[in-house]
Amino acid sequence: MIAVGIDVGGTKIEAQVFDAAWKCADKLRLDTPNTYEQLVEAICQAIEWADLQSSDLPIGIGAAGLIARETGQAVTANLPAFGKPLSVDIVKAAGRYVTYVNDCRAFTLSEAVFGSAKRYKRVVGLILGTGIGGGFAYEGKLLSDGASVGGEFGHIFAPAHLVQKYDLPIVTCGCGKVGCIETLVSGPGLTRVAEAITGRAFVPRDIDQLRNTDRDAAKVWKVWCALVSELCLAIDYTINPNVIVLGGGLSNMTKVIRDLSVQMATNQFDGFQPPLLLLAQGGASSGARGAAYAALQDRCRD
Ligand SMILES: [Zn+2]
Repeated sequence: MIAVGIDVGGTKIEAQVFDAAWKCADKLRLDTPNTYEQLVEAICQAIEWADLQSSDLPIGIGAAGLIARETGQAVTANLPAFGKPLSVDIVKAAGRYVTYVNDCRAFTLSEAVFGSAKRYKRVVGLILGTGIGGGFAYEGKLLSDGASVGGEFGHIFAPAHLVQKYDLPIVTCGCGKVGCIETLVSGPGLTRVAEAITGRAFVPRDIDQLRNTDRDAAKVWKVWCALVSELCLAIDYTINPNVIVLGGGLSNMTKVIRDLSVQMATNQFDGFQPPLLLLAQGGASSGARGAAYAALQDRCRD
């Protein structure tokens, strides 16, 4: 056994032990509790289980949210840990060191090392789901602090020209800021855009099924692709990745890679290629595998 990843999601906690070939050798699944104390307890239970499989393996915890460097407090909407020093309390209660990584950064690392981007040097991961987030890796290492703000692509502002052109709503995001692109391109964001421009409350599945036959659904898809492709180009102008790997529920929409790629190529500077878009390969294991790999890298740094 080489490392353990514990993926802490809004509904379940899944610990996976990886062997030297990075195959999952065993796993433990627990429900995510509703209170903070029980959450720390459940994560410690997963750590204890991992230590029983093989003692003193590096353990990485991949969870939604950020950890404020100054205070150690968690900033998270999906777990009952907002404002609590989650990573500190886990270490205290478990009595051993763990590496804490944001789940979108863990996804990125997993795809950069094991997944569809493993041949590439500069890799961005972009989750398009209930929320929008990502990370960036260079030569198989995360460039940002894995539990901090680098990769919070959803909270880049929506492009003004598209907001104006389609008269899109400018609303307060879950992060507290106003006008974040997440409020327009996440799953709930797509529905918000649909209501604003067609008066119909399409969910992503409707758009996927109807966009070739229903004019309103086609329009919503066009606006969504325009917004997401501008986000990808904003990432390109900042980091210039070789590849952007898409994950999350919305990345499962039919021909998402083709339509976004066409739109990006249209909007890119003349004579320059946009980054390659690929779908993630790791599936549900990406979070745990990425967190485990981050933990191994963390230990090797010592
Ligand atoms: Zn925001």
